[in-house]
Amino acid sequence: MTGQNTKSAILIIYTGGTIGMKDDGKGLVPFDFAGILDEVPELRKFTLRIDSYTFDPLIDSSDVEPSLWVKLAELIKERYDAYDGFVVLHGTDTMAYSASALSFMLDGLGKPVVFTGSQLPVGALRTDGKENLVSAIEVAAARDAEGHPMVPEVSVYFNSQLLRGNRTTKVNATSFDAFLSPNYPPLAEAGINIRYRSEIIRKAPSGDAPLQISTALDTRVAILKIHPGITEQVARNILLGDGIRAVILETYGSGNAISKPWFTDIVREADRRGKILLNVTQCNAGEVDMDLYATGKALKAAGVISGKDITTEAGLGKLFHLMGKYADNEQVKRLLGQDLKGEISK
Ligand code: ASP
Repeated sequence: MTGQNTKSAILIIYTGGTIGMKDDGKGLVPFDFAGILDEVPELRKFTLRIDSYTFDPLIDSSDVEPSLWVKLAELIKERYDAYDGFVVLHGTDTMAYSASALSFMLDGLGKPVVFTGSQLPVGALRTDGKENLVSAIEVAAARDAEGHPMVPEVSVYFNSQLLRGNRTTKVNATSFDAFLSPNYPPLAEAGINIRYRSEIIRKAPSGDAPLQISTALDTRVAILKIHPGITEQVARNILLGDGIRAVILETYGSGNAISKPWFTDIVREADRRGKILLNVTQCNAGEVDMDLYATGKALKAAGVISGKDITTEAGLGKLFHLMGKYADNEQVKRLLGQDLKGEISK
């Protein structure tokens, strides 16, 4: 689809999700992108060139697999020079995972990659999809006074807020206010104008270094959510399981788990076997501090690495990426503690 002139060029990448779904009588299923244009004629008012690329098959994002992230990264790399920004239409269920993973897979990103979707299909009367789509395109095309992209990073636009992709989490299944970035402020807020907070937006790399993509992902990660009543058998199966290279421990509060010796022994044994153990809090906001409580200290002493204020979604993407890149677990552990793409606070 093409606008009136060629001032800026934006590529909309349509992967599926509620935004482009319609009811076929059996439930919501994705429909052709041409349908979105009929539903959002406002897009024709943009004085931009807007092209689209439709994934085949279109999917409910519950079916997202890392292969989709690879396809996205390759597509962005292939079309990088031809466009000023990219808008990824994606289901909300796994949008935070995909935006997080992409932030690690795209290196030297100097252009906006804005994920968006909606809670109601774009054709529904009260849809949130129109505003999300139109504003995401505006963000992808926005430039500063010198003509540089305003938001040269992977972000999520939803319900008037632009959030850093790898800080985002889906917190509401029904409200239009579905996403939060609990540990990092919004990069921009949309009212009558879109107000950008340039001071907290990542800077584009200097020079003309080309975009690099890392598509090797190692998915041998398990997530163990600590809960009252967790059995030794369950902890053992996950922490010492075959084919599991890393475990995200979703712990209580500031990084606490069970202080019983049977649990600490299993964690210690997992560390001894070389597994990568990452501590991420179950809380929506705040950070892991393993120096605060005795239970946290025990995990630290057993070899667990602090995820600080990372989300589980970003922790997973970071592990997939680092493990795909490095065979050496010690190197992965070192980099887990470092801020790579704005996913943890310093
Ligand atoms: N199940 C849908 C999906 O994630 C939900 C949505 O798009 O909001 O694809």
